Amino acid sequence: MALRYDLVIAGGGMVGATLACALRGCGLRIAVIEPHRLQRQWPADSVDLRVSAINVASERIFRALGVWAAMEARGVSPFEQMHVWDAGGRGEIHFDCAELGQPRLGHIIENRVVLAALLEGLDDGTEVEFWCPATLEAFRPEGEGLRLELADGTVMETRLLVGADGADSQVRRLAGIPARGWSYAQRALVAVVETQLEHQATAWQRFLPQGPLAFLPLRDGRSSIVWSTTPERAEELLQMEAQEFCAALSEAFGHRLGQVRATGPRAAFPLRLQYAPRYVEERVVLVGDAAHTIHPLAGQGANLGLLDAAALAEMIRDAAARGRDFAARNVLRRYERWRKGDNLLTMAAMDGFNRLFGTPLWPLRLARNAGLSAVDACPPLKHRFMVHAMGLREDLPALARGPAFGC
Ligand SMILES: Cc1cc2nc3c(=O)[nH]c(=O)nc-3n(C[C@H](O)[C@H](O)[C@H](O)COP(=O)(O)OP(=O)(O)OC[C@H]3O[C@@H](n4cnc5c(N)ncnc54)[C@H](O)[C@@H]3O)c2cc1C
Repeated sequence: MALRYDLVIAGGGMVGATLACALRGCGLRIAVIEPHRLQRQWPADSVDLRVSAINVASERIFRALGVWAAMEARGVSPFEQMHVWDAGGRGEIHFDCAELGQPRLGHIIENRVVLAALLEGLDDGTEVEFWCPATLEAFRPEGEGLRLELADGTVMETRLLVGADGADSQVRRLAGIPARGWSYAQRALVAVVETQLEHQATAWQRFLPQGPLAFLPLRDGRSSIVWSTTPERAEELLQMEAQEFCAALSEAFGHRLGQVRATGPRAAFPLRLQYAPRYVEERVVLVGDAAHTIHPLAGQGANLGLLDAAALAEMIRDAAARGRDFAARNVLRRYERWRKGDNLLTMAAMDGFNRLFGTPLWPLRLARNAGLSAVDACPPLKHRFMVHAMGLREDLPALARGPAFGC
């Protein structure tokens, strides 16, 4: 016997869980399928290795969904300033929220905090069933919808399948949507570290020839680092004794925060640029990393995915409220047209920065350093960069439009 749902979301990561929250109360019966058991509790003094810079647009989405307070209760780390500079020159740029009259530029939040708050948000409704651990294995068209098979043999029928299943999306593959792009010859090493000097609620990023190195401020005074470097160097860094690693990190960061005194566990992730040329197939739609995976250098991947979730939820709710087929191709294509341009533009910009700061060619090195200093000295241009990084574009989904702070 097949279980019947109006909509199934494959993937209960940040984007899939946000979409599920955004569809609560619209009268649709929804299932979320997630293979990994999600953490709701953890020791008080532990920090997740995976953190995200969550921008103002994403904060607004979480506030509008009523899950922000639960994130704050578990711990979020606001940051007010950002310093970016080039190891191969004197170029430097400094962003300060005060210049925009805002109390902060964004928050650094552990991924597990975001997920736990979203899960709590789903607890109080009956229309979303969270299947976990469960894995989508196959699907095929049947009648007016799709027939889904999970790895444990469970069969579901649905009118719409959302692929929120990440960069290696099974939904994308089974729908026959290609994934274009390339692997960066880089891995991102992450760790939580203690530094000699205070982080000053500032996100710091130094561009090194092998890739950017970021220090993101945590509320307990430590910093979460994301060090993009060659796969070989990442492997060396993973294998080093803690003391040797701290010394290498302090050196690579130009001792901007003094000595790195201690480090927690380390992990590294392969980096790639990848995009789906289309987000929609018959009764199938992609969101988040399943549709686009970008370089983490400006911390925008999850933020883009959350805008996808907010935009798709708006399209679906609108169609359902008017009694229309919410899974119709024209509804899904409107979502695709809404989000694809922004996603591609941000992806291209991140790729361009990574290439520009990785080049050893001196004319380009001179140009990028001059460019950084020129933008720093030109407030209108700097404000545009800041506003974009905060996610405050035109044409935002309704969930991301609300008052930025204190709603
Ligand atoms: C080092 C690093 C740092 C980053 N920092 C930032 C940052 O600061 N800010 C930011 O905005 N972004 C950042 N990103 C990007 C961000 O992590 C991703 O864009 C974001 O996690 C994508 O969310 P998602 O839900 O689309 O995909 P995922 O987080 O990959 O979630 C996909 C989910 O689908 C599940 N799944 C997989 N296969 C199946 C299946 N067959 N059936 C059902 N479920 C399945 C998985 O278990 C997973 O839970 C960073 C990325 C990296 C690598």
